[in-house]
Amino acid sequence: MERLNIPAFYQFRLGNLEIIALSDGTVKIPTDKIMLFAQSGETEALLHAAFAKTDYEASINSFLVKLGEKLIIIDTGAGDLMGPGSGHLLESLNAAGYTSEDIDVVLLTHIHGDHSGGLVIDGQLAFPNATLYVNQNDFDYWLSEEQMNRVKPERQKSFRNAMAKVGPWADAGKVKTFTKDEELFPGLFSWAQPGHTLGHTYFVITSGSEKLVVCADIVHVAPIQLANPEIAITLDVDPEAAVIKRKEVLKIAADERFWLAANHISFPGFGHVIKAGAGYQWVSADYSTG
Ligand SMILES: [Zn+2]
Repeated sequence: MERLNIPAFYQFRLGNLEIIALSDGTVKIPTDKIMLFAQSGETEALLHAAFAKTDYEASINSFLVKLGEKLIIIDTGAGDLMGPGSGHLLESLNAAGYTSEDIDVVLLTHIHGDHSGGLVIDGQLAFPNATLYVNQNDFDYWLSEEQMNRVKPERQKSFRNAMAKVGPWADAGKVKTFTKDEELFPGLFSWAQPGHTLGHTYFVITSGSEKLVVCADIVHVAPIQLANPEIAITLDVDPEAAVIKRKEVLKIAADERFWLAANHISFPGFGHVIKAGAGYQWVSADYSTG
């Protein structure tokens, strides 16, 4: 029997709120092939310094938060799109004491397979009682045949995945889009971060004087892109813009010292960034039993 490490859930307190990280699993990132703008030997050196592998195993984290009467899940993992190392979100949700029927709202940071793949499982909407919220720019881009036909064939899969996973939600009339930074629910704000995708969005959650930012794909390979935020990845729709946004937000996060919840930093992905040389260093939240 193949045994996988699936860490399930981790509850984190932000003021009066409980934010639960749910593990979907991991995805391997071939850093020798898909990083952009690095000097020769640089990614190898940064990985070596961080004791990390070339075939970097990035966590896929989702986040669950109850705001008022609404149970909200942020991102849905990879579903059946990326093999046995991922697609474990519902097991993790169950382990945390909830079922998929309990979810009222699904928020997407963006439409990429490792965030939206879990929306449809076995042809059914995976969260049957939920409304899906997504940035209008991502919705318009990834569900457009016209846009799909403009990119190289090897990049068209992301569009097909989007149509297969978000399309049924749209057909069922269960999609709500947002266009600007706004308070979507009491204490939860969208924060547009165009670059990684055109509608890439962070979610800012506040409780009392505390603040946490769900920062989606601010990095895919933390040991490389925190140390040198100028390094991008071929998955970025607009890599130059992704670099600008990453640098901007990391600076604010280090200056203001707010919490981050990162989708691809090792589970559970709660922590802070501090300035370190020309880049940043991740400081994980201390382990707590809750
Ligand atoms: Zn992405």
